[in-house]
Amino acid sequence: GPVSKLSFDRSIEFRHVGFTYACSSRPALQDVSLIINKGEEIAIVGPSGAGKSTLVNLLLRLHDPAPGTIYMDGIDLRQLQQREYRQLFGVVPQEALLLHSSIRDNIRHGRDELTDDAVERAARRANAHHFISRLPLGYDTLIGDRGVRLSGGERQRVAIARAIANDPAVLILDEATSALDSESERSVQEAVQQFTKHGTAVVIAHRLATVLHADWIAVVAEGRIVDVGPHQELLERCVLYSRLCELQFGDPNEPALAKTMG
Ligand code: ATP
Repeated sequence: GPVSKLSFDRSIEFRHVGFTYACSSRPALQDVSLIINKGEEIAIVGPSGAGKSTLVNLLLRLHDPAPGTIYMDGIDLRQLQQREYRQLFGVVPQEALLLHSSIRDNIRHGRDELTDDAVERAARRANAHHFISRLPLGYDTLIGDRGVRLSGGERQRVAIARAIANDPAVLILDEATSALDSESERSVQEAVQQFTKHGTAVVIAHRLATVLHADWIAVVAEGRIVDVGPHQELLERCVLYSRLCELQFGDPNEPALAKTMG
C-alpha cells in the first residue's frame, strides 16, 4: 500500500523526467534532472511556455512523469500517500484567489483548526501583519468587492500567509508578473527569505530580487533545463539567462540596479 510520509528530511530529486500532456504531441518536459536540497531557495526562470509550471505541477504530483521518476528522500512519489504528501507543500499561485470575506478567513482558508494566534503568526511571517493592523477592523476587515481593496503586494502577502499557515516543509511560489511597487516587492522578498531560513522554497521567478537571493537558478527552455547555477555565474556563461534577465529586469549588469537590489 501507499507509504506514509509526514516530513521532508533531505532532498527532492527529478531523475530524467519527461512529461507530455494528453492532447499534445510535443513533450512539455524532457530529460529533466535536478536535485533540491532541504533548506534551499530555488528559482526557476525561462520564457513563456518553457515548462516552469509543468515542473512545479509534477513536483506537487498533479501529474506523474513519463518517462522518469521524482523522489522525495529517496522514495518514488508514486509510492506516497497523496493527501499527506500534498500537506508538505504550501502554494502561492500567481493570482491568488481571495474570497469576499475577512482577512482572517482568507488566511485560514477553511482550515478551522487554525487558531487566531496561528493566523496572526502566519501573517507576521508573511510581512502582512503590519498592514493588516492598520486596516479599520484589523483581521476582521472584509476584502473584495464590498470591502477594502488590497494592492497587488498586499494580496500576495495574504496569499503567502495562507500558504505558510500550516507550516509546510516546502513553499512553492509563482511570482506575480505584474509590477509591484518597490516596498511591496521588498516585503514579499523578505517574507520568502524569512521562510527559507528554515524551509525550502521553489519560486517561479519573475523578479531580479528573487534570482539574486536564490541559492541557485534553473534555466528552463523548450522543456529542458538549459543550465543551473547562481545568478552571477549564469550571467557570465548562459546566453539565454542573460537575455532573459535583460528582458525581465532591464540590464542586470547595470550598477545602479545592482545596488538597489543588492
Ligand atoms: P508561462 O511562463 O507562460 O506560465 P511555463 O514555462 O510555465 O509558461 P507551462 O505552462 O509548463 O510553461 O507549459 C509548457 C508547455 O506545455 C507549453 O507548450 C504549454 O502550451 C503546454 N501545456 C501546458 N499546460 C497544458 C495542458 N493542460 N494541456 C496541454 N498542453 C499544456
